[in-house]
Order: sequence, then C-alpha cells, then structure tokens
Amino acid sequence: MKRDWASELETYLQIRFAELCETIGQPVPLTGLRISPPLAMEESEYFLLGLDEGFFRPGQAGFFESELLSPPGEGNEKMCRMFWHDPPPRLFREGICQLATASLLILKRGWLRSQVRLEVREDRTSTSGADILVNSLAGELLVCVVVKRSAAELEKLVMDLRACCKRGPHAKDDCGFPQNHPNYEFCALHQPPYLWAVAPDADVCLRLTYQETHIALEPLPSLPPRSMIDSH
Ligand SMILES: [Zn+2]
Repeated sequence: MKRDWASELETYLQIRFAELCETIGQPVPLTGLRISPPLAMEESEYFLLGLDEGFFRPGQAGFFESELLSPPGEGNEKMCRMFWHDPPPRLFREGICQLATASLLILKRGWLRSQVRLEVREDRTSTSGADILVNSLAGELLVCVVVKRSAAELEKLVMDLRACCKRGPHAKDDCGFPQNHPNYEFCALHQPPYLWAVAPDADVCLRLTYQETHIALEPLPSLPPRSMIDSH
C-alpha cells in the first residue's frame, strides 16, 4: 500500500510541536499545530525519506540538526529552524520545504550529499539570499535554491528579480523590491548560473547570465538534470 506521506508528516510534526510546547512551557493550542499552506504530497514524501536517510534529525527544541549544514569548525554550529518559539509557538513553514527540497535534490535529482548545502535564516525579519546551495565537486557554485511559501510568492520573486537584475548594482535601501532584493544581491555577488525557486507545490528555475552591469534571466520550467549542469 502506498504511504500517505502528507498525513504521516502532519502526525510527525504534531508530535514534535507538542514536545516543543512542553519543553518551553507553553500550552499546546486546542487545534494543534496549524500548517499553512498545507503539506504537499511530494514535499511530504521527500521530507520523510530524508529523515529515514538520516540527512536531518530533530535536535534541540524546535530545531533540526543536519549533516547538510556547513560543517562545524567553519564558525558554524547552526541548526535548521522548524518552529518559532515566541508565544504562541508555530511552524516555520519554509523550513519543511527547505529540508524536503534538499532531500529531493539528492534522492530524486541525483546530486551527491557533499554537493548540497543548507543555509540557515538568522531571524524572522531576514530573508536570506539563498536557502540551499548546490556546488560542483570542485566546489564551484552551480545552483542557488530559494524557498518560498506559495506559487504566488514565486511569481513575485521572478518579477522582482527581473527588475533588480535589469537595473544593475543598487542597495537594498534604494530598491523598490526589498523583500526579494537579498536574492538579487546574493546572485550578483556569487554568480550562480541557476536560481531554482521552490514552494511546497510549485517551482520555477532561472538561467542567469552575468553581463557587465546587469544580469539576464531566462526562465526554465524546472531545474535541468544534474548531467546538464554539472559537466565536470
Ligand atoms: Zn533590488
């Protein structure tokens, strides 16, 4: 019988959430953990498979430990956030999609564990420039993965990036699209050839070409196969 991935993951998260509430001395809401947008099927499948494979595991209250984070010793003892603690505690929805996407890159798309690196968000107000990095075996950055909550947010990301990339170098303070400007800044600085934006049930990929002052964007339906991107 096929596993019902989404309800299995929902049960798993409800248990983790109840544990967190107990640890931080907060009552569990009567309605339990609210998951919005709902867990998508493939997202749930790859989150649970990643858990089975040991790519990540529950760590200190509300966080996940992962071997896909930058190794300790690089000034990085970070963990992946799964819940916000401040009352009322709640789910960090993008965190689920981020771990599921890392697992999918390895288990479905054929990238090696050593090529997939999770980035962490420092706090709620910051949107990081990248949520996952995919490198070639030689360590060259190939793909910047950005995680969003919904297909509508992906659309806005592409529109905003188009504007930032067309304009050329500018500061966040001077940008009309501050929400997504950090993704532009990350790309301008690190020059990944692909940006893959992922939401629980949608994704879009951009091929980026770096010109003297601006960046040209070519939309692709999804991230091309590893064999096309990682030629070395
Ligand atoms: Zn901008």
